[in-house]
Amino acid sequence: MKFETIKRVILAAILLPFVFMLIEGVVVIRSSIKQYRDLEKDRQFADVLARGGSIAATEILSEIAATRLYLAYPGSTTAAEMQRSRVTLDRERRAFYASLPSRDTLDDGLVGELSVLSLAYSRIIAARSAVDQGRYAGSDPGSIYWYAALKQLAVVDALSPLISDPMLLEKSNQLMGILLTYYGERLITGVGTRYLDRGVSARFPVEQFVQGKTMLGEGMDHMVFHSAAPIVREIVAYLGRSSQVKANAITDAILAGSRPTRAVRDVWAAAQSERMTFLQQKMVEAAKDIHETGESLSRRAHIHLTRILALCAGLLILATLVMVLAARGLRLIDRLTRDRETLVGELRNAAQTDLLTGLYNRRGFEVAASALLTQAEHGSRWISVVLFDLDHFKRTNDVHGHDAGDAVLRQVAGVARENFRSFDLLVRHGGEEFLALLPDSTPDDAVIVAERVRLAIEAAEIPLPSGEILKVTASFGCAGRANEVSNRNFEDLVKRADLALYAAKASGRNCVVSGPIVQASAPEERRKTASGGGFDSRK
Ligand code: GH3
Ligand code: MG
Ligand code: MG
Repeated sequence: MKFETIKRVILAAILLPFVFMLIEGVVVIRSSIKQYRDLEKDRQFADVLARGGSIAATEILSEIAATRLYLAYPGSTTAAEMQRSRVTLDRERRAFYASLPSRDTLDDGLVGELSVLSLAYSRIIAARSAVDQGRYAGSDPGSIYWYAALKQLAVVDALSPLISDPMLLEKSNQLMGILLTYYGERLITGVGTRYLDRGVSARFPVEQFVQGKTMLGEGMDHMVFHSAAPIVREIVAYLGRSSQVKANAITDAILAGSRPTRAVRDVWAAAQSERMTFLQQKMVEAAKDIHETGESLSRRAHIHLTRILALCAGLLILATLVMVLAARGLRLIDRLTRDRETLVGELRNAAQTDLLTGLYNRRGFEVAASALLTQAEHGSRWISVVLFDLDHFKRTNDVHGHDAGDAVLRQVAGVARENFRSFDLLVRHGGEEFLALLPDSTPDDAVIVAERVRLAIEAAEIPLPSGEILKVTASFGCAGRANEVSNRNFEDLVKRADLALYAAKASGRNCVVSGPIVQASAPEERRKTASGGGFDSRK
């Protein structure tokens, strides 16, 4: 497998599971954020419901009671009490409006209900100043407060569909049920008492009675859904008491047109008043319960937020780790690739290099020469070879030993490398025989270079392992021809150089011979028969 492929496989193995985890993480974070938003929204609604319910259950009623007391007994104490109830209602109303979600997130129906509620409150403000100016003497502003309370209930009811949390929804329904029941009872008690207190000729207020009954029914409908809730069970149990059942029977009798006696009326009024006190207490409890649910939603929202942050931090750490891991993996693969290339290069060099002299061996020479010749085809017209062989080298081995012979071969290779030109190719051709390929060189150029090398070898003082200094010579044969595209082979040149070398040996060694040896004989023969027709550097 190629290293590039391995790299891709490793990258895929690291990154694919990571990307998968990342996508999963983002999905979890998104759903957690949604849950957090829902919780936050519900917490806000819980605030609104608790405040709205509390205003309808307590503050408005307190102000009605305080105002009526003031109207009945005007004085500084009742005025102060009335003033206190006004301040409390205003503070709660401001808090209620402040806890509402921003208007643009609410639907048109709810916005409409809120406008009607504002209007109802402005009527309370107007009624207050009328009370202060004494314009309410002998009459009752109760219906104005009553209207505002009903509108407050309508807003609380309209907010319910926006709740996501089932627990909060259940509690808001309970609160609504209790509020409607209370207001229904209050209406029936109010109009019933007034009707019974007037003379027999008084008209029976059937519409208001029916309205009260309808509210009672709606309230019970809200509560029936939550019959298992403790607060609802308490209310049902309370309404099942004999005094309450009796009061209901009297109510039905009044609605049917009968006029109870004074004593029955008092029993009825006492039971109704006790019932309202009980329901009012339950309204306060339900509103408080919703407030506590809101607190718990807020805690849950904060836990969610902490989880989201922890998840984000975890993902971030994971991403960093994976990136570091991937970067390390890639660096490792790059290093392995480089090491491999270096190793392959070294192996290739080792296969193409002569270990003793560091020059090309024959195989390396063939590869390099082929590249050089292809290059030379485009540029130069001439190519030459120089073949040289150490003189009487066998004697060196015999006298100084094989190691000394090796040392001589190394030194001679070094001298040759320095004295041929940088672009000439040098190869250890045989035991103590070397060949140089001279690109872009005429036979005359080759002779000049060969002579320079010959002189350098002759002049070299070669230190032997024994410490002695040895001097050696070499004989040179040169040959050259025009460089042709059709003839990439330089075997003919080598043969001709070999013949010239033989001639150099024959003519006394330590010289350069170049010549157009036209006819090549068999190798065994040529050493004996070939004769240089060319150049002998010593002549
Ligand atoms: P001539 O001048 O005619 O070339 O005589 P010569 O003695 O150099 O030639 P000959 O062919 O008789 O001997 C070559 C010697 O080179 C024989 C062989 O032992 C020696 N030789 C070849 N390769 C190596 C080598 O790698 N190391 C050593 N030390 N000697 C080698
Ligand atoms: Mg020799
Ligand atoms: Mg030889």
